[in-house]
Amino acid sequence: MKPRFNIWPLIITFFLVVTFQNLVTTNATMKRVSYDEFMGLLDNKEITEVVLGETTMKGITSVPEGETPQIYVTNRVEEDAVKLLKPYNVKFRKEVENTFFRDILSWVIPPLIFVFIWIYFLKKMAQKGGGGPGGSLMSVGKSKAKVYVEKNTGKTFKDVAGVDEAKRELEEIVDFLKDKEKYGRLGGRMPKGILLVGSPGTGKTLLAKAVAGEAGVPFFSISGSEFVEMFVGVGAARVRDLFNQARKSSPCIIFIDELDALGKSRGSSNMYGGNDEKEQTLNQLLTEMDGFETKEGIILLGATNRPEILDPALLRAGRFDRQVLVDRPDKSGRLEILKVHIQRVKYKKDLDLKQIASLTTGFTGADLENLVNEAALVATRKDKEYVEVEDFTQATERIVAGLEKTNRLLNDFERKVVAHHEMGHAIMGMALKSVDEVHKISIIPRGMGALGYTIQRPSEDRFLMRKEELEAKICVLMGGRVAEKIIFNHLSTGASDDLAKATDIARSMVTKYGMVKQLGHVSLERTQQQFLGPDGMKTHEYSEATAKEIDEAVKLIVENAYQRTLSILTNNKKLLENSAADLLKRETLEGDDLNAIRESIIL
Ligand code: ADP
Ligand code: ZN
Repeated sequence: MKPRFNIWPLIITFFLVVTFQNLVTTNATMKRVSYDEFMGLLDNKEITEVVLGETTMKGITSVPEGETPQIYVTNRVEEDAVKLLKPYNVKFRKEVENTFFRDILSWVIPPLIFVFIWIYFLKKMAQKGGGGPGGSLMSVGKSKAKVYVEKNTGKTFKDVAGVDEAKRELEEIVDFLKDKEKYGRLGGRMPKGILLVGSPGTGKTLLAKAVAGEAGVPFFSISGSEFVEMFVGVGAARVRDLFNQARKSSPCIIFIDELDALGKSRGSSNMYGGNDEKEQTLNQLLTEMDGFETKEGIILLGATNRPEILDPALLRAGRFDRQVLVDRPDKSGRLEILKVHIQRVKYKKDLDLKQIASLTTGFTGADLENLVNEAALVATRKDKEYVEVEDFTQATERIVAGLEKTNRLLNDFERKVVAHHEMGHAIMGMALKSVDEVHKISIIPRGMGALGYTIQRPSEDRFLMRKEELEAKICVLMGGRVAEKIIFNHLSTGASDDLAKATDIARSMVTKYGMVKQLGHVSLERTQQQFLGPDGMKTHEYSEATAKEIDEAVKLIVENAYQRTLSILTNNKKLLENSAADLLKRETLEGDDLNAIRESIIL
């Protein structure tokens, strides 16, 4: 690649210059003669053709075919002067202008023009970022993806509020970077890569910088989205560059923002003919990750909003094998974040931040920072000395309107529905003994599609599931929809994911595990896993009649679960309402709050 880019313009320029000069110098076969000599040649009939120019006259001799004719050139003379001078029989000629400078210019200017054109093209190519791996003359420092380096980020954990759990998990990294010798003393191994998972604006970048700041190490960062649309090879070179630079200044942090833009599952992006650039860049990243030892003191932090679409290769052991959740803050988290950002503005000492925190459900850290800023602007417009609560409420309204437009916030009714829906799951989870324990309930939207969530954790590792357990699982999944039905007497779309999961379980009970009497202990569906990878291909060998029976059996299982759930939740309607109201107010419930609910369930 490299030599071609450099040499072609040069060769073209050379030929153009030579051709041009040939044109100019065809004069060589011409002979300048004086006017009277020219007239003499005419008289002798040597010249058979005359070409009249602006200031000259050319006479062309006749020669046999194939030979070049001689051309005589003379300056044109006004007819009057000739008539006037002829009788005196003197030699006469017109003064020849000095064309020396003109000739020089005709030699010098064209090459100059070409040189300029050549330089222009060179520059153009360099801007496009051509050139191969390692970066040629033209591509150095010209690519869009930049490695940003900060010797000292100046951020500490104090700047990050409301994400205590994430901070706790990252503290270990800070200790390691501060004193890596001590850390490896007992043979413990640090993870190479940690993935920060959370919605935009929840403070992932800030956290990464704070880790670097706390440990006092340099912070290298690069964004996955900048690799898109780059020439093949450049992204990979950039990644290599990044790691080389980082190695030289270890211990340090490498932060890759928007990892999903770069690390999308390779299968999916390949569907339309593939994307070599992304693939090469991703491969380079994987190679580099495998190529360094944590001992070197480099810790990789990645950020993404959608871990589920990442290439599984990225998440394998020894790569980004640890995930840290950076959630949207709940009410107390928002209060902490407000306390951080309020320092930047002048405010009344009695400003009720708690009230502001309760007005801003669903806000991220970035939204809250924006809110403080807006409130200060509102107060300034009113010529106030301090920012007051009413400035915040006014600013909140404006920001909420914006967020609602982009579908990032729920309205009050939706929040109420979500609270009852999640509480329905939770009560069912606590009422039925044979399911995983309920750990946390939240109505803060997480990720795409989930409006709220209930986290259940198994109390022990399970390899076998009994029929009763599967049925209980389906009941828990039904809990959301049933609660909505009892309280609001409606069916909503919020339960679609739950229904899909419940149906899947019921179907497997019928076709895979042979748990239904009518159909017998028969496996009706098998997954051919050996050859076709993890998803395999479903095959079935049964008649239309059996298919109908299966559908009916599945429906029956789900229907039974629905009725059972309905009866349990109806018995606990008061509890459902009270605890949903509590959840609505506090946004997340865990630990003791859950125990209280568990104890008041009527069976
Ligand atoms: P992300 O990388 O998750 O998209 P950022 O780290 O870029 O989010 O956050 C943008 C800004 O929002 C930060 O610079 C900070 O001012 C503010 N912010 C976000 N989360 C927090 C938090 N937990 N505590 C304090 N400020 C926060
Ligand atoms: Zn649900």
